[in-house]
Amino acid sequence: MNNGAYPLIFERSRSGRTGFSLPQNDVEEMDVDGLFDEDYKRKEKADLPEVSELQLIRHYTGLSSRNHGVDTGFYPLGSCTMKYNPKINEDVARLPGFSHIHPFQEESTVQGALHWMYDLQESLSEITGMHTVTLQPAAGAQGEWTGLMMIRAYHEERGDTGRTKVIVPDSAHGTNPASATVAGFEAVTVKTDERGLVDIEDLKRLVDEHTAALMLTNPNTLGLFEEDIVEMATIVHDAGGKLYYDGANLNAILGYTRPGDMGFDVVHLNLHKTFTGPHGGGGPGSGPVGVTEELEPYLPKPLLVKQEDGYGFEYERPQSIGRVKPYYGNFGINLRAYTYIRTMGAEGLKRVSEYAVLNANYMMRRLEKSFELPYSQHCKHEFVLSGSIQKKLGVRTLDMAKRLLDFGYHPPTIYFPINVEEAMMIEPTETEAKETLDDFIDTMERIAEEAEHDPEKVQEAPFTTVVGRLDETTAARKPVLKYQPEE
Ligand SMILES: *Cc1c(COP(=O)(O)O)cnc(C)c1O
Repeated sequence: MNNGAYPLIFERSRSGRTGFSLPQNDVEEMDVDGLFDEDYKRKEKADLPEVSELQLIRHYTGLSSRNHGVDTGFYPLGSCTMKYNPKINEDVARLPGFSHIHPFQEESTVQGALHWMYDLQESLSEITGMHTVTLQPAAGAQGEWTGLMMIRAYHEERGDTGRTKVIVPDSAHGTNPASATVAGFEAVTVKTDERGLVDIEDLKRLVDEHTAALMLTNPNTLGLFEEDIVEMATIVHDAGGKLYYDGANLNAILGYTRPGDMGFDVVHLNLHKTFTGPHGGGGPGSGPVGVTEELEPYLPKPLLVKQEDGYGFEYERPQSIGRVKPYYGNFGINLRAYTYIRTMGAEGLKRVSEYAVLNANYMMRRLEKSFELPYSQHCKHEFVLSGSIQKKLGVRTLDMAKRLLDFGYHPPTIYFPINVEEAMMIEPTETEAKETLDDFIDTMERIAEEAEHDPEKVQEAPFTTVVGRLDETTAARKPVLKYQPEE
């Protein structure tokens, strides 16, 4: 097991070994001939691993201890909001009344679940300043796509079919241009000016009768608040376009300002970021979408509504873009977010943003002494450093990220946003103690010093992890996702 090698569960398998004991089968076997298309039937025996229960537990416990999570260490991954996920959320999500119900149950038998789902919709409407919210989309990217499909349906219904373009800042999250493309639009890039904000003159030049929407994150991915947002909204609306708010990260503005008040028509939220759904490893997520009253008819169906005799789903929605996800969204993640909102309350959520912004600015002001800070005004919930000073010494941002692993930290987001050279995007979140922030800053300063005096050390890091440098390009481009037995 040296060099990071860890046998697959399949390689631990020994024929005939079992980790379970099932009671004797006491029902008659059924003849399934003719029930399925022959093509769907397995021709060979399923090749499943055969291990004991203890082997199974050790295997996965061992694997999990090699991972980094917010429960094990600081995780300042910018744009991802790796805040602590309160354990009370887990308690509530596991209550049998919630965990044992089935989406095919009669609505009358799940009124409690529908009640909190409706309350969550209402809370999110209040938090974002939007008219109506759907909980259906399963992630931020799916929320973006859902929102853009609604904007498309809106323009099309008015016969306004020449609107083929969606404007996206060059600092935008990669999912923005991707969602615009998948929704059938052409993504057009608007520049960032020297303040780190959308270049208004460039925006004016781009907006015309072909503009379907402007997609924005505010605060943007540099962690800066787009202070011209009201003017931008007017420019886009006057030309007949709509404003889409990427609200994946709401951590800086809770209780202070709302996308609806800024003039946005559609908003998606990442409940797995701001609202504490656990999301290391990619999911499951939840990306609710809120809209203005004007766009409400286009929301995915069914829509959960309050009726005279309780809560229920409205299926008769002729202008709806249709269903975007089976059942009613990621129920368990929505329930965790609801628990979080209810335990924090309005005042608590406001304090979340205060501490998130304070923590980010504290770190930024200390780290700007050792690293280049391309945009120097106060930040919101995150900030972006450049590794350009260290690059001149032959040490890249990737090297410093790897070196951080030796000290037990998850590195910040790197090389994003793409408009900053050697970018390091740091988001501490509100849940970290000052000592944790200080320790991390000390480590970053130490690495900056190493870059100057012992660059090879940083270039060769990490030294303490179970694996060294991985071939990340091949891993991303040619992933091997399935066990391939050796002959
Ligand atoms: C995380 C993120 C997204 C995408 O959200 P997913 O749930 O990963 O699809 C979109 N925009 C921004 C700004 C984000 O940080």
